[in-house]
Amino acid sequence: MISRVKGTQDFIDLSLFNFIISQTKHHVQYYQFTEIATPILEHIELFKRSLGIYTDVVSKEMFLIDNRGQEPELCLRPEMTASTVRAFVENNIVHTPWKVFSWGPLFRYERPQKGRFRQFHQCSLEIIGAQGYMHDVEFITMLDKLFTNGLKLTCYALHINFLGTPEDRVVYRSALLAFLNKNIDTLCDNCKARKDTNSMRVFDCKNEQCITLYKQAPVITDYLSKESETEWQQIRNALELLGVSYTHRPTLVRGLDYYNKTVFEFVSDNLGAQNAFCGGGRYDFLVKQLGGREDQPSLGAAFGIERLLLLLEPIQERLALPHKPALNLVLPLTPAQQTLALLLTESLRAHHLHVDVLLEGDSIKHMMKQANKRSASHVLIIGEDEQQSQTVTIKNMMTGNSERIAQIDAVQYLKK
Ligand code: AMP
Repeated sequence: MISRVKGTQDFIDLSLFNFIISQTKHHVQYYQFTEIATPILEHIELFKRSLGIYTDVVSKEMFLIDNRGQEPELCLRPEMTASTVRAFVENNIVHTPWKVFSWGPLFRYERPQKGRFRQFHQCSLEIIGAQGYMHDVEFITMLDKLFTNGLKLTCYALHINFLGTPEDRVVYRSALLAFLNKNIDTLCDNCKARKDTNSMRVFDCKNEQCITLYKQAPVITDYLSKESETEWQQIRNALELLGVSYTHRPTLVRGLDYYNKTVFEFVSDNLGAQNAFCGGGRYDFLVKQLGGREDQPSLGAAFGIERLLLLLEPIQERLALPHKPALNLVLPLTPAQQTLALLLTESLRAHHLHVDVLLEGDSIKHMMKQANKRSASHVLIIGEDEQQSQTVTIKNMMTGNSERIAQIDAVQYLKK
């Protein structure tokens, strides 16, 4: 047997997966988002330039594609924001805010564990040209409502932080660096290396000793300019007025270079170590960085479908998953009735009835067993007698009642 690739999975039952997608589509439509799709194959340069070369995603986790030795190098996309921005620029979209939704597979060469795959799926939501922080408030509220009302999640929390402007961060970075240098002996090797390339990313460290130390580190929100401070305060006030509960987590930095100002994550204790199921924030400089004529203040988030599946599987009964339509099963008793059975089946399907025909099974007993197993609502039996008299015997599997009727009346009978 050839097994599936490490860190990937087969979805044998997609009902919950599809439910997540359809609820999301339904929900974001009310916020004027439209669906787009971008390619899975992209140029590596796109992610190097947007996420940053020192990020884990770019430096360690890219799935590179053999491009027959030709430039430019290709990869399987590891995230969707950069692709959406590329699509905005490349397709000369002029109407902003451009509110788009997309979903699909992503690829990262990570160590697989619960909720962490090498091929996983995300729904991504982006607003390119989101002028003003009230967009942040509406966007976060939209996600919160999706998780609470659309997907009926209860056990989760929203963590937010404010990374300020690049100018705010210059001031903050020197304070943080001074703190890190003062405590250099306590830092793990990873943080020692990280502190000079991107100091704020030390906060993503999982080492216990580092985590304890960083509780005393200076926090970015104490280093904001007056203007940024007001913005941060207004965002929190508005979220409170809109009834969105959140916790300020000063060490939340998100792993990618393009974020500024608002960043956030939705987390759940029910997920284990990989506790974030949605993450996002503001990226005001990415459009220009990726070739756009002018900067477009923008906002985005992505949630992982696999992590939502972990949260939703235990509460599946509470969700309004689409019901399986009633199944009518046609049973031709011998091969001689199979063509007629197919004809009847097709005519029923043409009238939007859900019908299947049993083409295997050598006895009525065996066929009825199959019908029970598949929870058929009705079986339509065609034996030699029925064939001769152009009739069909219909058995209601709930009541056990049988009736023999003309084949041409079958649609009307079942629709009743
Ligand atoms: P990110 O693009 O890293 O901000 O991640 C956004 C969301 O995608 C996370 O909150 C997870 O739900 C999901 N995600 C990220 N990486 C993985 C992975 N390797 N496996 C499964 N889900 C992931």
